[in-house]
Amino acid sequence: MKISAIRAYQIDLPLREGSYKWSGGNSVSMFDSTVVGVETDSGLTGWGEVCPLGPAYLPAYARGARAGIAELAPQLLGADPLALNELNELMDRAMRGHPYVKSAIDMACWDLLGKVSGLPVATLMGGHVGADVALYRAISQESPAQMAKKIGVYRKEGYRKFQLKVGGDPDTDIARIKAAAAELSTGDVLVADANTGWTQHAAVRVADAVRDVDVYLEQPCMTYEQCLAVRRHTNRPFVLDEVVDGIDMVVRGVADHAMDVINLKISKVGGLTRARQIRDLCVSLGIAMTIEDTWGGDIITAAIAHLAHSTPERFLFSSTDFNSYGTVAFADGAPQRHKGRMSASTDPGLGIRPQMKKLGKPVIDIGTRPAKK
Ligand code: MG
Repeated sequence: MKISAIRAYQIDLPLREGSYKWSGGNSVSMFDSTVVGVETDSGLTGWGEVCPLGPAYLPAYARGARAGIAELAPQLLGADPLALNELNELMDRAMRGHPYVKSAIDMACWDLLGKVSGLPVATLMGGHVGADVALYRAISQESPAQMAKKIGVYRKEGYRKFQLKVGGDPDTDIARIKAAAAELSTGDVLVADANTGWTQHAAVRVADAVRDVDVYLEQPCMTYEQCLAVRRHTNRPFVLDEVVDGIDMVVRGVADHAMDVINLKISKVGGLTRARQIRDLCVSLGIAMTIEDTWGGDIITAAIAHLAHSTPERFLFSSTDFNSYGTVAFADGAPQRHKGRMSASTDPGLGIRPQMKKLGKPVIDIGTRPAKK
């Protein structure tokens, strides 16, 4: 099988709640997502998606994803989409870095591998574990009282894991964490995610102030070294996210005892092939994971579900159903949240079928396809 064409489509994903705010005054109200179709000489098409969390979260942005895909696509024509390791080597030789550019292409090739083999991606990645996976709900940055109130709102939707967006003024953040913790029921899990927003000294202050609160601290500061200093100071369970951008950082973090949990985002590490490699290493080393992506719609949510659902339960800290945060559905068969949980499709590949009318005309169209009969 050979790649004969790569097409990409742009789709806007507005948020159900209007906007999403996190550290550093960052906010997004409309997500700009890119859907990629990898077409083959067999007539089968695989589907992927990439959706950065705006331009200020990671070194990634939506138009950059499309520029990169347009740059890379001509060099992938004729390649075997089922030889995933070799395909990733080819992408890395053709373009240094820019893992998020490669993510949707790699994802689409996993979809193809599943379609050709007649198996769901979760089966190819180790098999569905249990009936479904637990989801977390991100709580957009607001006042302490407003954020605490959301715990009850989201618990009614079935969520039991809550991720507070902190990383602002340390006194306000201490109040946010304490107010939210006061709303917890037995079995709930609370994470305070600073998204790199605290200076080291502010992070140490917050960590001290919440020493007796049942809360995880996530990515307090910008650099790995700053996070490590906070980690060595605090007694709270610790999550690294933004700085874990590849397998090297996992190895380094494990050697330094720098974290208990990592946040594994598919596009941050360059796609499902690399994410699976990191997932399997973390399982072997006893590091639990939140398995998700930077953001996304139906296709990314499906990819997350397959990777998460094939992960041993005790190492799956949580996962995310991004498609329920938005108002636009564009693929049939995507996972739907049920009681705060979701499951990966048992259909071949990612198990999704894009609604082509919603995707519109391709914004990137590279390669050839059979003439219409
Ligand atoms: Mg995070």
